[in-house]
Amino acid sequence: MSKILYISSEAFPLIKTGGLADVAGSLPTALSNMGQETRLLLPAYTQVMQQVTDTKQLASGDYYGLEVSLLETCLPSSDVPVWLVNCPAAFDRPGGPYLDSNGQPWDDNALRFALFCRVAVDIALNQLKLGWQPDIVHCNDWQSGLVPALLQPFKQRPATVFTIHNLAYQGLFSHQTFLDLGLPADLWHPERLEFYDQLSFIKGGLVYADRINAVSPTYASEILQPEFGNGVDGLLRHRQERLSGILNGIDQTIWNPATDPHLTANYDSTTLKQKRKNKTALQKQLGLPVDARIPLVGMISRMVEQKGLDIILEAMGEIVNLSVQLVILGSGDSHYEMQLVEWASRHPDKLNVVIGYNENLSHLIEAGSDMFLMPSTFEPCGLNQLYSLRYGTLPIVTKVGGLADTVVDANEVNRKNRTANGFIVTEQSASALLTTLHSGLEQYQQKGVWHQLQLTAMESDFSWRRSAEHYLALYQQAMADRNLAAG
Ligand code: ADP
Repeated sequence: MSKILYISSEAFPLIKTGGLADVAGSLPTALSNMGQETRLLLPAYTQVMQQVTDTKQLASGDYYGLEVSLLETCLPSSDVPVWLVNCPAAFDRPGGPYLDSNGQPWDDNALRFALFCRVAVDIALNQLKLGWQPDIVHCNDWQSGLVPALLQPFKQRPATVFTIHNLAYQGLFSHQTFLDLGLPADLWHPERLEFYDQLSFIKGGLVYADRINAVSPTYASEILQPEFGNGVDGLLRHRQERLSGILNGIDQTIWNPATDPHLTANYDSTTLKQKRKNKTALQKQLGLPVDARIPLVGMISRMVEQKGLDIILEAMGEIVNLSVQLVILGSGDSHYEMQLVEWASRHPDKLNVVIGYNENLSHLIEAGSDMFLMPSTFEPCGLNQLYSLRYGTLPIVTKVGGLADTVVDANEVNRKNRTANGFIVTEQSASALLTTLHSGLEQYQQKGVWHQLQLTAMESDFSWRRSAEHYLALYQQAMADRNLAAG
């Protein structure tokens, strides 16, 4: 049994902006169910504090001249203890965890997450006298990137693991910020935290963690290439022996069509006919023509370049002329939001766009759609295609990252050997997208073929238990590496 401190800047259901929250809300519980002593460390954002009751103060202190206390609570419907870094000056404010209400990054983000990291380091080194010191510190994305760097000099430190959920976000700040944060001067070096004259939080994890992993095997190999490496592919090639890929799981208690409370009708692979009721409900709710025969394509996404919105918009002129309905839920860059809303206003019988974040509707879209659109330019793992598979909603995806690892194209060979579960767009272009969409629509008309594709999709095993086993093996490797380094 190991003691694991899992550090994340978001965790479902307390606070969520994307896939990291889903992972941080599930993996610690899976590890705990496998007998590991796990603690989840999270900033005490306003939204988090509004949801938790019964907090207990474990420690308090002063970080960067700000009052900080460490509070203990529990993840809802799990017995994993959550430790909240409570610093009202840093985390108790309206807006999101990283962006203000206008969608701009908080201008004190470096300070907020450096403070968060310093509390993590103090827990890891048993400075807060909690009577609990981790064997493993598991960091995630740039917000906890400084932790491995700050722990490195200490002989009695725990082993460190750093997971890359998205290399495109690196936590880059000025040299002045580096000085203001009082980080050890020797860290200002191109082989350490400096990245072309900027402070890089993520390099703290990439350079110093005993083990690094990305959230899918294909993404782990893609980021070694300049095309996907966001300027740190050289560093990653240098650390290649410490880098691996572990596919995310999904929380099957939350994402299960047989029990999902957000659905109009629950179903499983033996009662697939019921799925149609969700389609009708979705069409009604969004004001689309109610017709079970019209194929319905869903999409739920942050509206950013990564998610392939450029080729979707480019293909839209042709899509609206097809016998298909498209439902898009998401928010993000306003130029994407505006263009999509504009298309929807001109073709209300074909396209419905809901701008915003809506957990309930996202479940109904997964269940009510026939296909799910996710033509990302890159995709570290991707969760929505996994939810779609589980809901018998066939994903249309590009062959990148976790999408390539989980979706098997419905070509003739794969259909014959019953491994096909979706549709692959062969390149990042509107014409390739349309070709694949046409193929999907054609197969949709063949009832037997479609039914088999759905069954194969629903049989896939993306349980957290499988992923958690891989993480346990990674922790063992990290501990062995740490021991070797400590001599
Ligand atoms: P990413 O982490 O890049 O945003 P993922 O597919 O890994 O992409 O995870 C996205 C998660 O966020 C999924 O659980 C998805 O359902 C959810 N999500 C994204 N946008 C919305 C939205 N507008 N409303 C509800 N859920 C959303």
